[in-house]
Parts: sequence; structure tokens; C-alpha cells
Amino acid sequence: MNNLANLTTMHVGGQAKNLVHAKTEAELIEFVRAADQSKVPVLILGGGSNLLIADEGFEGTVIRVETSGNSYEIDACSGGTITVASGEDWDSFVDFTIEKGLANLESLSGIPGTVGGSPIQNIGAYGHDVAEVIARVRAFDRINDRITTFAAADCEFGYRSSKFKSERDRWVILDVTFQLRRGEFSLPIQYPELAKFLGVEVGARVPIADVRRAVLELRGAKGMLANQEIWSAGSFFINPIVSSEVADSLPIEAPRWPQTDGRIKTSAAWLMEHSGVHKGDRVAGAQISSRHVLALSNSGNASANDIIELARVSRAKVKETFGIELEAEVQFVGLSLD
Ligand code: NAP
Repeated sequence: MNNLANLTTMHVGGQAKNLVHAKTEAELIEFVRAADQSKVPVLILGGGSNLLIADEGFEGTVIRVETSGNSYEIDACSGGTITVASGEDWDSFVDFTIEKGLANLESLSGIPGTVGGSPIQNIGAYGHDVAEVIARVRAFDRINDRITTFAAADCEFGYRSSKFKSERDRWVILDVTFQLRRGEFSLPIQYPELAKFLGVEVGARVPIADVRRAVLELRGAKGMLANQEIWSAGSFFINPIVSSEVADSLPIEAPRWPQTDGRIKTSAAWLMEHSGVHKGDRVAGAQISSRHVLALSNSGNASANDIIELARVSRAKVKETFGIELEAEVQFVGLSLD
């Protein structure tokens, strides 16, 4: 069975015409190359944690990245340099770094997906994103049929974005090299919610293992961990970053976080909750999670169309109330919000 619903955290999506599992880097490249040469559409699948696949499935080759392994060097002065295969599970990798006494990934605990997915949307949480610790990304270039290594500065990292996301049909991530600091203590805790949970002031540094435990608990309470009973793709929409004029037009209580470029980030969840989108809202089997308004979830028998319809309704309410068009964080296959 080539059922794609089983391979995504949303548990939605039809059949793949062809499904292959790449266990090694050589296999991964070979599968992609063969499909490209025969002009067969390709879908690269990691943890399936940020994807919504159409009920019609995928008329091409789905390549599941299951490569594994890492190599690392840890040194008292320069810290840890770890190169990790793209198919490795993200959170197991974070756990491994903490076990090795390496800091700076602790606040990114509990994010579902694979290591290879992490640079694509520059995953982030609690004030830090993965771009801060990426040294290099090795990727297969489908246009020029060769492997390219990118220094972090060339990955065009932005808020939940990168070169690999904007050119997503071109690059297949092979491995990622991280540069981590040796140390027992975290980076300064920036988010009040996390600081409060840890019982410290914003700006404090705490043992990395404590930060990991706290983040796992907070995410768990919101149904935002891998392998939870809630079937979702985590945050469905990106937090909008708007001009200061647009930010000024929002109600005074709306969250506002100034960015370095002068624009203002606000909260997608806040905008939804204040434009009439409520936890528990449904369209057939699709439901706004009862734990977090940003998680559109499959209550058991949702179709991809139900989820899309729920997303459209939610987005339209925000647009009508605040004039801001939410952008999806989830990637669509064979579907569109418009
Ligand atoms: P939350 O803590 O309820 O806060 C809502 C939003 O407000 C967050 O998305 C966060 O933006 C922003 N925010 C809160 N405090 C902030 C501060 N002091 N400065 C700047 N921005 C602030 O968020 P949540 O939905 O439960 O998520 C917790 C964390 O996990 C967030 O950082 C969120 O981004 C992250 N997360 C990441 C992914 C991903 O990488 N794909 C998926 C799900 C959740 P930011 O989004 O910029 O942090």
C-alpha cells in the first residue's frame, strides 16, 4: 500500500503512484535522479510533519528520506561540530546533543520532523531558530545534477524560510552540520511563558536539560509534539510580520514584537482568536485543536479538503476583521488555499 496518510502527522492524503524508501545517501540521489530523468514528478518526504497532501494522492514518485547516522567532534574550546544525515529524527538529535553536554538546541526540543526538514523552514521556537547553529548544509542540486555545500550565510535563512524552501523543487538536503557550544547552561530564556514555567526571570540562563523538559511539557500541553493523539501539522499559519502602519491599525492589546528591519511581528493565534475562530470549530472531520488555535487537526476522518476548507474559513475571518492575510506554514501537495 502506498497510502500517504500513514506517512504524515495530519494522517491525511491519498495514494502515491510509486513510493520508495531511501536508506542511504546514494539511494536518495539515485531515486531522485531516476525520476527526474524520466520526467516523473517527485515528492521528497521527511517526517511528514509539515505537509498537507491532497485526497487524490500523488501521481509520481514519493521518496521517503530514511538516511541515518552522524559524525561529530567535540572539543573543549570550539565546542561540538556535528554532521547529521537528513533522515534522522529531529528530536532524537536534540536529545543526543543535550546528553553530550552541548547547548543551544534545547529550546527547539519536541519539534516533529527530520533533521533534513529543519533548514528548509528554518524551524524555531521560544526565541531561537535553527539557523543560529547551522554551519553548513549539503544538498543535491536537481538542476545541475551535483552535490553543493552551502555555508549558513548562503542559505538565505529568514523567519521560517530559506533558499531550500523558496526553491523547493531544486534541492534535496543530504546532511546538515551544526556548530554547538559546550556548556551546561542554556541561552538566555527570552519568552515569558517559558521563563514562568521554569520559575526564572526572562533573560536567565538555566541548565539545558531543564529547558528541554520544560519545552517538552509546554508543547505537550498544546498538543504540539510528535506521536501525540492529536493529528495535526503543528502551527498551520506563520506569525505575520507587518509594516508599522498595519501594526498601528491593530487593537492596542494585539501582540507586537518589533523586528530588526523595522517591521512588527504579531501573533497568528491572537488574530484568529480575536476574529471569531475558536478552539473546537469544525468543518466535517477537520477541527481547530482544542489545545491550540493554530493547530488545525484531523479529528479522525478528515479529508484534505475538509482541512483546507477550515483553513480558508479561518483565514477569511482574520482578513475580514484585521485586513491581514495569513500565510500557511504547512506545505501543500496538490492543494491550494486560494
Ligand atoms: P506562544 O508561546 O503561545 O506564543 C505565540 C506566538 O507569539 C509565538 O508563535 C511566538 O512567535 C510569539 N511570541 C511569544 N512571545 C514572544 C516574544 N517574547 N518575542 C517574540 N515573539 C514572541 O507560541 P506557541 O504557538 O505555543 O509556540 C511555542 C513556540 O514554538 C513558538 O516559539 C513557536 O514559534 C514555536 N513553534 C515552531 C514551529 C516551527 O518551527 N515550525 C511550529 C510550532 C511552534 P515565534 O513563532 O516567532 O516564536
